[in-house]
Amino acid sequence: MASAAPALSFTRITHPAPLPVEARGKVLADPGFGKHFSDHMVTIQWSEERGWHDAVVGPLQPLSLHPAASVLHYAQEIFEGLKAYRLTDGAMALFRPQANAARFNASARRLAMPELPEDLFVAACRELVAVDRDWFPSIEGGSLYLRPFMIATEAFLGVRPAKSYSFIVIASPAGNYFKSGAPAVSIWVSQYTRAAPGGTGAAKCGGNYAASLVPQAEAMAQGHDQTVFLDAAEHRWIEELGGMNLYFVFADGTLITPPLAGTILPGITRESLLTLAREEGLTVREEKYAIDQWRADAASGKLVETFACGTAAVVTPVGRVTDPVEGEFVIGSGGPGQLTQKLRQRLVAIQRGEAADTHGWVMRLD
Ligand SMILES: *Cc1c(COP(=O)(O)O)cnc(C)c1O
Repeated sequence: MASAAPALSFTRITHPAPLPVEARGKVLADPGFGKHFSDHMVTIQWSEERGWHDAVVGPLQPLSLHPAASVLHYAQEIFEGLKAYRLTDGAMALFRPQANAARFNASARRLAMPELPEDLFVAACRELVAVDRDWFPSIEGGSLYLRPFMIATEAFLGVRPAKSYSFIVIASPAGNYFKSGAPAVSIWVSQYTRAAPGGTGAAKCGGNYAASLVPQAEAMAQGHDQTVFLDAAEHRWIEELGGMNLYFVFADGTLITPPLAGTILPGITRESLLTLAREEGLTVREEKYAIDQWRADAASGKLVETFACGTAAVVTPVGRVTDPVEGEFVIGSGGPGQLTQKLRQRLVAIQRGEAADTHGWVMRLD
C-alpha cells in the first residue's frame, strides 16, 4: 500500500562495526524478548523553532542527555510496540502500523508532546527494518519487535511541557510466541489502581508502567503470572492487565470486552479481534464487567473462557484468577478455550499472509 512520501528524508549512516555475523546468528537462534538490539536506530529531533528535523538512521548508540532533561524528572515519555515479521511467502510485513502511529499521537496529545506525522512514524519503522533486515530471527515465528518512543530532551526543571523532543525507534529480535500459542496464565486481582478517570490510562506512557511494577511484583510473589486491574472508583469493574486487554467468552457465544472509557489502553489487537469476532457472526459487546460477576459466571458455567490480548503474545488464555479476599476461581477447563484458539488462529493467519487481508491490515515491506 503506497502512502504519501514523508516530508523529511532520512540521512543513512551505516554502522561502522555491526555485530559480526556469527555472534548475530547466535542471538537470532534464541533471541528471547527485549534483550538484544539490532545494529541501527532511527532518531528524529523536534524543536519549537524547527518542528521535526534531522531524521537519521544510524548506528545504535547510547543517548547523550543533559541531566536536567525533562524526561528524567517528569516522565514526559510515550512509546509504541509493533512487530515486523515474515509472511509465509517470505516477504516482510508490519501489522497495522498506521494504527500505532495514530495511537502514538493520541498519547502525545495527552502527555503534551508534539505529534509526529503518521507517515513519518511509519517511514521511520520501514527505514529501520530495511537497514536491519538481517536481524530477523531465523527461528519459526520469530519477529523483529520495533519500539518507537519519544522523550522530552529540554534541560529545564520547571514544570511545563518541554520545548525539545527526540523520537527514536529501536529494534529487538523476538522469539516465537506464535507456534502453539501462549499457555494459560494465572491472574492476581490487584488492590492497586492502574488508571483513574481523567488520568493517563489510555496513553501508552512509561509512567503507567512504572506504577504497575509493584502490583506486578506482588502478583509474581503470590505465585501468579499477571495482574488484573479494577476501576479506581468502585474497585469492581474489570479494566485490563498491565499490558494486555481482556475478553470474556460466554457459553452462548457472546463476547464482552471492557469499553474504552479513558482508563483502558486502546489495544490494536483488541480492536482487530473485535472486528474478526463480529465477522465470525459472534455477538461482541464493549461493556463493563464486574469482578464478582466474573467469579459467579465462571462458577455457573455461563462464562467459559477469558483471554488477554496484545501485540507480544497475540492472545493469552486466562486459566485462573485469585482475589486476595475471595480466593481463587478457575475459568472453564483452566486451559486454553476453543474460541480463544479460533480467534487467535484467525488473526495469526491474516498476520502471516495465510488468510486474505480484507481489511488492509498487513503492510508488505518488500
Ligand atoms: C500496549 C498495551 C496493550 C496492548 O496493545 P496492542 O496494540 O494490542 O499491543 C494493552 N494494554 C496496555 C496497558 C498496553 O500498554
